[in-house]
Amino acid sequence: MAARIIAGNWKMNGLAAALPEVARIADAAHDVTGVETVIAPPVTLLPRVARHDGITPAAQDCHAADAGAHTGDLSAPMLAEAGARTEILGHSERRANHAERDVQVAGKVRAAWGAGLRAILCIGETEAQYRGGRTVEVLARQLAASLPEGATPENTIVAYEPVWAIGTGITLREDEIERVHRTLRDRLAARFAQGAEVSLLYGGSVSAENAASIFALRNVDGALVGGASLTAGKFVPIMNALAEKGAYA
Ligand code: PEP
Repeated sequence: MAARIIAGNWKMNGLAAALPEVARIADAAHDVTGVETVIAPPVTLLPRVARHDGITPAAQDCHAADAGAHTGDLSAPMLAEAGARTEILGHSERRANHAERDVQVAGKVRAAWGAGLRAILCIGETEAQYRGGRTVEVLARQLAASLPEGATPENTIVAYEPVWAIGTGITLREDEIERVHRTLRDRLAARFAQGAEVSLLYGGSVSAENAASIFALRNVDGALVGGASLTAGKFVPIMNALAEKGAYA
């Protein structure tokens, strides 16, 4: 069975004043059984987030090279040294704001693996692609081109995030989430020896209100959460909702 994981992506949010929220989330995580809680703060907070037991510290990006003349960038070994154990890669905001293409994302995934980090690979279609009936085609391309050979349940998590559902309050229809996750599970199983056990997260406006019904869906092993991960008050109920998911869904 794939591991159950809740990952919070803080994006470019959070000064030191937000650290008590991390402490509250970490405290709650001790009581949430069968669920791994990941927090990806801005890099400035990463070493302090990494001091907390009970949560997995994560970065939000890395450079594909280990070192070099890349002003402003951070390498996977640097992020590992700062405390990261996992990295979000290929997020749609990186793909849109920094013109990241699948081939570059694949290089970053390899770099993360090389530094001993697990990758949370993000894939997702735009609204135009969704309306054009191209969701599965787009996801298949992204999965094939941005996830290199060698993916295992230990080094990879896949997050499906419809771009048009991120930060908008829109969630995809439940039957559509289930269909997409089934397709991703099948593709991962066909390509990698242990592909069926790679955790599949759903992302896009997941909240305390909708988490339980999303987690009830088959092949949804957790969520990648943006806005609702910034406070324990909103995030902990999502962690609890995953812990309550039935054993076989
Ligand atoms: C995200 O950015 O990965 C995300 C899912 O954001 P939100 O939960 O705010 O839609």
